[in-house]
Amino acid sequence: MAETLIKVDLTQSPNDNEMIHNRWHPDIPMACWVNPGDDFILETYDWTGGFIKNNDSADDVRDIDLTTVHYLSGPVGVKGAKPGDLLVVELLDIGAKQDSLWGFNGFFSKKNGGGFLTEHFPLAQKSIWDIEGMFTRSRHVPGVSYAGLIHPGLIGCLPDAKMLAEWNKREQELIDTDPTGGLANPPFPGTAHMGKLMGEAKAKAAAEAARTVPGREHGGNCDIKDLSRGAKVFFPVYVDGAGLSVGDLHFSQGDGEITFCGAIEMAGWVHMRVTILKDGMAKYGIKNPIFKPSPIVPTYNDYLIFEGVSVDEQGKQHYLDVNVAYRQACLNAIEYLKKFGYSGAQAYSILGTAPVQGHISGVVDVPNACATLWVPTQIFDFDINPSAAGPVKHLDGSIDMPLSPDKV
Ligand code: ZN
Repeated sequence: MAETLIKVDLTQSPNDNEMIHNRWHPDIPMACWVNPGDDFILETYDWTGGFIKNNDSADDVRDIDLTTVHYLSGPVGVKGAKPGDLLVVELLDIGAKQDSLWGFNGFFSKKNGGGFLTEHFPLAQKSIWDIEGMFTRSRHVPGVSYAGLIHPGLIGCLPDAKMLAEWNKREQELIDTDPTGGLANPPFPGTAHMGKLMGEAKAKAAAEAARTVPGREHGGNCDIKDLSRGAKVFFPVYVDGAGLSVGDLHFSQGDGEITFCGAIEMAGWVHMRVTILKDGMAKYGIKNPIFKPSPIVPTYNDYLIFEGVSVDEQGKQHYLDVNVAYRQACLNAIEYLKKFGYSGAQAYSILGTAPVQGHISGVVDVPNACATLWVPTQIFDFDINPSAAGPVKHLDGSIDMPLSPDKV
């Protein structure tokens, strides 16, 4: 049986676990070592380290300190891995922790985190999703259930000092373009947790350690729903031993993770096997990770597809802006789903959690980029297809997602 190399106790603070970290830095000591060819299990907290609770209030989503995330399990050292190699990671299986068979999705307040549609949903809201074997449903979003496409939102290897310096330089240059903030997150030592690193060495490293929010060259927080169990990922290696970390497990997610307070966020475990491809970065011209998808995916193959172009809600024309186009596709889908009785928040939550596909459909037809949002029709308890009879209101509005007003 595969050994569980990292264990987490959900009743314990992740800050007290030396095999957990929430920053990227080459000085973070390896939590444990494995040999190439080994398979093993790592348990993980949810990305907030247990801050969000299974209840009917969004106060935790409103009040969370976002400098604390993401809590990752690792780094795992792989003997013999050298800079320039590729670390091959097979995701043999992924699951929820047996003492925590639920996940959360939410929208951060515009004043604390925001999200893709924060102008339309400016207040903190939350939905809880129960995990029933391979399926999920929510007491806050009725009329919909689906099979999980379980994946780590965040997985990658430690950067070396040169790469870390490059990240800090380019992100600070972006931050400096707008002093009002929000463009990126600079190092923040106050809440850094760096595994076994302690004392002065920790203080020095924490001052420059990269936050875990964006995906970068090493992978990291890319939130790719198709990186699911059965996938095989090839990661660039920058330090001796590679230093593989994983966390932010999702039971399911729509493309774009548009709600930002997650997909269906859960605590769980990952069973993986690692091997090394010597000098693989140069051999294959690798800058960012590449991966092979899982042979097993939910077979939702009937979709209702919403188009969006790069003209914003105020009617302003944008030049080939895929972000604006995808936002319009999402807003179009939300307006449509509301006709069946969903609140806007419920519809938004479905788009953030269900196996919804997002496609960049056209990027050359000036001035409009075109994005499409593919909503699987089979996840609903009722027919959402358009017909001559018009939409039937299946929900009466008596159930909605908990909302927490901002504190004044
Ligand atoms: Zn996540």
